Amino acid sequence: MHNALLYNRKSSMGTQVKQEETIVAVSSPTGEGGVGMIRMSGIGALNILQTMFRGPSGKPRNEFESHRVYYGFVADTTETKIDETLVVVMKSPKTYTREDVVEISCHGGIVVLRKILQACVKLGARMAEAGEFSKRAFLNGRIDLVQAEAIIDMIKTKSDKGWRTAFSQLDGKLSKRLDNIENLLVSIIADIEVSIDFPDEDIELANDVTVLAKLQKLSRDIDKITCTYGVGRIYRDGISIAITGKPNVGKSSLMNALLERDRVIVTDTPGTTRDSIEESLQIGGVAVKIVDTAGVRKASDNAEQLGVSRALKVAFDSDIRLIMFDGSKSLDDDDRKLAEELYTRFAEKGSILTIINKNDLPQVISDSIVSPMDKSSIIRIAAKTGDGVDLLKLAISKLIEKMGINLEDGPVLTRERHLARMRAMTESVGRAISALKAKMSREFIAADLQEAKESLEELTGKVVDDQVIDKIFNEMCIGK
Ligand code: GDP
Repeated sequence: MHNALLYNRKSSMGTQVKQEETIVAVSSPTGEGGVGMIRMSGIGALNILQTMFRGPSGKPRNEFESHRVYYGFVADTTETKIDETLVVVMKSPKTYTREDVVEISCHGGIVVLRKILQACVKLGARMAEAGEFSKRAFLNGRIDLVQAEAIIDMIKTKSDKGWRTAFSQLDGKLSKRLDNIENLLVSIIADIEVSIDFPDEDIELANDVTVLAKLQKLSRDIDKITCTYGVGRIYRDGISIAITGKPNVGKSSLMNALLERDRVIVTDTPGTTRDSIEESLQIGGVAVKIVDTAGVRKASDNAEQLGVSRALKVAFDSDIRLIMFDGSKSLDDDDRKLAEELYTRFAEKGSILTIINKNDLPQVISDSIVSPMDKSSIIRIAAKTGDGVDLLKLAISKLIEKMGINLEDGPVLTRERHLARMRAMTESVGRAISALKAKMSREFIAADLQEAKESLEELTGKVVDDQVIDKIFNEMCIGK
């Protein structure tokens, strides 16, 4: 059904695509709530409202002004009043979808919402699919595809950095950077095509040196954005931290100390709770999934071996590893084995922190015993009292910062889809640069640059295939 619309969009980005159907959905969360909201969009929205709406005196209204709130009642087709409401009327084009939009705020009861929804459907609206309002906003050129993705992230994010990243993307910061890249790309394509189309004409043609300089700038601009993917992923998805260490060194106590104030959500991962415990919190504004690799305890030799390798696997799959020792006891073989494994694998990557716990007791482990590591990454804490836990969080924040740039530096790529399209561009531009240096025919260079342009257009959604579109908008909830 949407094919025709998409092809329209391909040729006329930003122009409004007329939709025949008016869609309606409950936009507030499912269940009981103080206020519920029903959203309707499309050419029939105002007529449907007019039929349902009664002013405070019980009379219908003939006219609704745009972007105004109306107090009154909504009634069903049998004239039975359903609820007392506040209705917002927004006429096209300055609306979320760029179509006429009506939002009815009512009491947040399941039956009330359902009855209003049914009345709208009876009067000609159709139930909206997941993400369909935003899909119309996209098809009508109000937002591009990366902004549509940011809407999903705004709703789903559980951390401050996640929110800031999503908001910056929704606000068009990434789109603007991509626009700049597109403008440069288009100007280079124009330079090249003029010289193909009018090789003998007496017009000023860009010479190879100028084109090469422009291409190299383009390549640098693309790289600058591409390299933000690592941090963008961290800000959007958060990071995982494994706490490893022998039984009784204080891993669970540390987990509790970390969670005490900063827990945002608790996730029990079914089937894994006996082996490891996962919890979620925020550290330095970043969503963190912290895993206590608790499986090593009370194990016989073989099982212990299994436990160690399981703990190592969790450590391996995590972004940051905390290795923990009990500072009140001498290191034994188990401590050494675990330490050796972790340090050899991860120390170089700088993604490991050493924690010496039970700082409140007399200490027998000195920094130098633990360390083939940089001593600055050894942190002494008392998980039981919470002493030093804030320092640990700071150290974790610093590690996260080291993993990427600061958000203030500019927009970041947050999804693999973005990365794949940017990499495709890098390759095409790289080929164009090589072709130019090899003095190949300009037709080849033009073809490479057209490919780069297509990758960019796929990223922003100027050229899209149905599957990508459906995948993105299906991630949204009904009513968005
Ligand atoms: P895990 O097996 O590594 O998860 O260790 P637990 O967190 O279960 O702690 C093992 C024991 O050490 C418990 O009796 C804790 O109360 C104790 N413990 C943990 N952290 C500290 C600490 O900082 N100081 C002291 N004195 N005891 C601690």
